[in-house]
Amino acid sequence: MLARRLTEGWSLVRRNPTSIVLVVLALFAAAFGTIRYFPYWPLYGHSGPLPPETAEETALSKRLLEHVTAVASSPHNTYHPDALEAAARYIERQLETLGLTIERQEFVAAGQKVRNIHTAVGKPGAGKPTFIVGAHYDSDGIAPGANDKGTGVAALIELARGLNGYQPKRHLLRLVFFVNEEMPHFGTDTMGSVQFARMIVQKETVRGMISLETIGAFSDKPGTQTFPMPLGLVYRDTADFISFVGTPRARWLVHETLGSFRRHTQFPTIGGVAHAFIKGITWSDHASFDDLGVPAIMITDTALFRYPHYHKATDTPEKIDYGRLARITKGIERMVREIVD
Ligand SMILES: [Zn+2]
Repeated sequence: MLARRLTEGWSLVRRNPTSIVLVVLALFAAAFGTIRYFPYWPLYGHSGPLPPETAEETALSKRLLEHVTAVASSPHNTYHPDALEAAARYIERQLETLGLTIERQEFVAAGQKVRNIHTAVGKPGAGKPTFIVGAHYDSDGIAPGANDKGTGVAALIELARGLNGYQPKRHLLRLVFFVNEEMPHFGTDTMGSVQFARMIVQKETVRGMISLETIGAFSDKPGTQTFPMPLGLVYRDTADFISFVGTPRARWLVHETLGSFRRHTQFPTIGGVAHAFIKGITWSDHASFDDLGVPAIMITDTALFRYPHYHKATDTPEKIDYGRLARITKGIERMVREIVD
């Protein structure tokens, strides 16, 4: 039977060799695409109801609300320099209150002095690589920026609190609040993360970077989530998850972070590696590091693919789901501890 099949197959190849070559090429392309780009499995990690909120998460959600309200109740960017300065000072005050050492990277943008704000967790050591977690603190145009990026900033402040005093053995961890992620600075020399990435790779070996993107908009209703093509063919249309996304360079980092988050936190997540040509994949500060060869990912609620207030005057603090933001913030802290330890 097998011998007959093989004989038949061979005569088919002899009759029509081109078609067979095409089939083999298509199989190779499918295997390559699957390995390089296919979303992480299982698709959502956790599904079903979330576990009851802990007292720690309830307290954390109140602090997150305070941070988002303080930083992102009105537009703050180089078009609104006083508010941008107020946001920077608020972040610095929070870090000071925690007793952390603040470092500033100042530069001039749009004729104004602006700054990245950062703090280190742990101590530098010989051969110890650096790991970076960052979020930008400016908002877009006339948007107050509660989700973009009050949520990322609030989570990063609380990460600084949670990791205060922690000494990772294998890395120096840097928490960075970037200025000027939004237009007209995005992708230019005056983008805060571009400035920071260039400076830090000169001095330190950077193993990886995580950008905390918009992480505060959720819904349990079907029809609330869209996707850039072709990802909508794979995922459901309910906006109840967060996503871990990177370019192929960051495949291992998506794998490591998503795996760790899922081990320690019951919250729906999706993970994917996608080429930069997929809409939105490089729309954050991780792109500044990716451009310099540093594996970098973003954690995002997918922003404009679910949040109708993205970059609008209506992106205000009451739109944010602080309970879920608290769960994610705590989950990111557990994940960061595991990957830098
Ligand atoms: Zn934005």
